[in-house]
Amino acid sequence: MTLNVGVIGTGMIGQDHIRRLTHVLSGVRVAAVTDVDLDRARSVADDGVTVHETGQALIEDPGVDAVVVTSWGPTHEEYVLACLAAGKQVFCEKPLATTREACDRIIDAEVALGRRLVSVGFMRRYDAQYQAMKAVVTGGEIGAPLMMHAAHRNPSVPDHFTSDMIIVDSTVHDIDVARFMFDEEVSAVTVLKPRRSSKAREGFNDPLFVLLEMESGVLVDVEASVNAGFAYDIRGEVVCEDGTVELSESAGAVVKRAGAYGGRVPEDWRERFVRAFDTEFQAWIDAVAAGGTTGPSAWDGYAATVVCDTGLAALHSGAREPVSLREKPDLYKGGIGGSGR
Ligand code: NAP
Repeated sequence: MTLNVGVIGTGMIGQDHIRRLTHVLSGVRVAAVTDVDLDRARSVADDGVTVHETGQALIEDPGVDAVVVTSWGPTHEEYVLACLAAGKQVFCEKPLATTREACDRIIDAEVALGRRLVSVGFMRRYDAQYQAMKAVVTGGEIGAPLMMHAAHRNPSVPDHFTSDMIIVDSTVHDIDVARFMFDEEVSAVTVLKPRRSSKAREGFNDPLFVLLEMESGVLVDVEASVNAGFAYDIRGEVVCEDGTVELSESAGAVVKRAGAYGGRVPEDWRERFVRAFDTEFQAWIDAVAAGGTTGPSAWDGYAATVVCDTGLAALHSGAREPVSLREKPDLYKGGIGGSGR
């Protein structure tokens, strides 16, 4: 069976996902696309792909079995709710929605439906290195986890990027990784402002140092830098009672030459996580074709947005801010989201 997917939002990541759905993955075809910029949607639509004028029309198209939402974050709520109303499986790129209240409405709608239709695009859970790290942590071979050190370094960002976006667009991935790695919620957030990089424009706090306190007391520190200049560099190390486990370098080959050794560092997130995105989508396609879904749930999307909101409060107050989550509905009980394994 071929799953007919409709894609809402044909910008940067929308086009990358259309490429993988069309040329890389199996059991799927892009049946329809739309974008607020219809010319852009038309320009990426191959022969036989329907271009819809609105996201609503795409969701209602009987030729669309399931929907991928890759439009601008503030539009996600409307499209995810419309998919729930239509009873269609939806893969929504992060964020699930940009406010706690919007995420609440999605959770309420999915709980009322009584089955999971929403999957959220936190692709790091499908990265082989993070999965290997989690296997060591949960396997207990180096004892109980105590701390995690993480770094999220972007080479550069566009002019419109703000300190708030370091939390909601970049650190959101580390927040999801922390929840996934330790299978527990974040209970408090503190954000410190180190010395400002001279490459960051006036008034823009970059880098940030984000401290996440997990429910068990595990501490996760995230160095988030978006003008790191040299590469897209993602790091992680979990410190346990009897040892440590860290992400290996992502380069496939190490070059040795006179007096030095080294390898390629990724240019951007597309290069670093290309296989994670492929694995994430293939798992979702297979699960949807089998009549269900997989991957991070609406609860995971909700929790990430609430922790980001708390992080923004901590950034602006300079204080430690506690995280307050609603009661977890039964629909989402049984661990924190999908592991991709
Ligand atoms: P982008 O290049 O700006 O693409 C977003 C597209 O959606 C644009 O073509 C935009 O059109 C369009 N759009 C805006 N409002 C719309 C609406 N009401 N209906 C349909 N289309 C609409 O942004 P992007 O970088 O691809 O990001 C898209 C989403 O993916 C964001 O939520 C982002 O956080 C997420 N993302 C996730 C990752 C990851 O690592 N998982 C990486 C990158 C992005 P205009 O340009 O005309 O507004």
